[in-house]
Order: sequence, then structure tokens, then C-alpha cells
Amino acid sequence: MKKVLILLGPPGAGKGTVGGKLSEIYNLPLISSGDLLRENVNNHTELGEKANSYIKRGELVPDELVEKIIEDRIKKEDCNYGFILDGFPRTLKQAEDLEKIFHDEGSLIVIYLSASDEFLIKRLSNRRICENCGAIYHLINLPPKKEGICDKCGGKLIQREDDKPEVIKKRIDVYHKLTQPIIDYYRKKGNFFEISGEGKLEETVTKIKEILKW
Ligand code: AMP
Repeated sequence: MKKVLILLGPPGAGKGTVGGKLSEIYNLPLISSGDLLRENVNNHTELGEKANSYIKRGELVPDELVEKIIEDRIKKEDCNYGFILDGFPRTLKQAEDLEKIFHDEGSLIVIYLSASDEFLIKRLSNRRICENCGAIYHLINLPPKKEGICDKCGGKLIQREDDKPEVIKKRIDVYHKLTQPIIDYYRKKGNFFEISGEGKLEETVTKIKEILKW
């Protein structure tokens, strides 16, 4: 049976950072819809050009565009034993369509990382990412060893355009409106666990490991 984990939660709850750790621990690919979209934007693909206008404004990219990249990604061989989803699904439509793409529901576990809006704004405004490998840092809680430089690949650390204050607020509003309804959807289905995304990375990862028992 495939091991499939969905990390749900608002922007800044730690899905990418926690997902990165879990990906190393369980040797499963971390599939981040945001990273895949940004990759398309940077490579100036047709999909990337379409998606960019939404991303810049902090809005959601239309379902069919995101579903296409997720569907293509989870068909790849490295997903044969399972995968971890970060940032997908983000609308009820995406959650329902995921079931059509991926039928093996029995093995699906959903972890909801919760956090207050205040906490998210603080965390996102201190976030920096590597423009080369996408590694995530926090200026206070998870700083790089050398200022402005990625520990993993030596790439330059930048602030995401959509981590600027005006866009952060919009992204959190969009989350409450469009993504929060999925929480009830999965809660009703079972295999749903909520934990705080505000704790330390190691603590959060330990809690998730206890839930997964993989
Ligand atoms: P993230 O890196 O997950 O914060 O995503 C960055 C941006 O990419 C979001 O603000 C959206 O514009 C877009 N995006 C990422 N995942 C999705 C998704 N599942 N559905 C729609 N838009 C998405």
C-alpha cells in the first residue's frame, strides 16, 4: 500500500519545512504545488506564465492548471511507494478531484498544521528561500549559517514576492475562504489529525511520526 500524506494548513504553518524533514525520514518525495508552479514560472512555460499573475496577487491558481501538474508529478516512478503533498489540495474541487486521480484512499493520512493569523504573518515575513534549491529559512528561528547564503547548495537567499506584507494578508484571507472548508471535508472522512504548526520543528515532526507509525 502506498504511503500518502497530505499536509494541510495555512501559508506559513510549516508545511514545506516539516514536509522536507518527513521526506528525508520516510524517503518519500515531497510534492509542493507552490514549488512546482514557481518552477514553471522561472522556466517561462505556458502554464507558468498563466499561473504567475495569480501567484503575484496572492490568489489561487485555477484548479485545472494545478491539478494538471500534480497529476503529472504523482504518475512519476518515484511516487510508486507514496508521496507527501504540500499545498495541494487547496480547494474542495481539488480535494474531490484528487480522489479521481488517486484511488487508493485507504492509505491516505491528512495532517492539519494549524496556526493563528498573527503567528503566520510574523513567520512569513521572516521567511527566506534559496533561489536555487528552494530550501526554506527563517531569519530568527532557522537562520542560515552564513547570512544570505543557502547552507545546502550555496545559492542566494531571497524573499518570495508573495511573502511581502500586502500579499501575505491576501493569501491568508484566501486560505480562510477557499481552503478551510477542506478541513471539515477530511475531518468527516477520518484519518485526519490536527496539530499545532506553531511549535518547534523537531517537536512537530516527532508528533507526526507518532501519528503515522510508518
Ligand atoms: P505556496 O508555496 O504553497 O505558498 O504557494 C504559492 C502560491 O502558489 C499560492 O499563493 C497560489 O497562488 C499558488 N498555489 C500553490 N498551490 C496551489 C493550489 N493547490 N491551488 C491553487 N493555487 C496554488
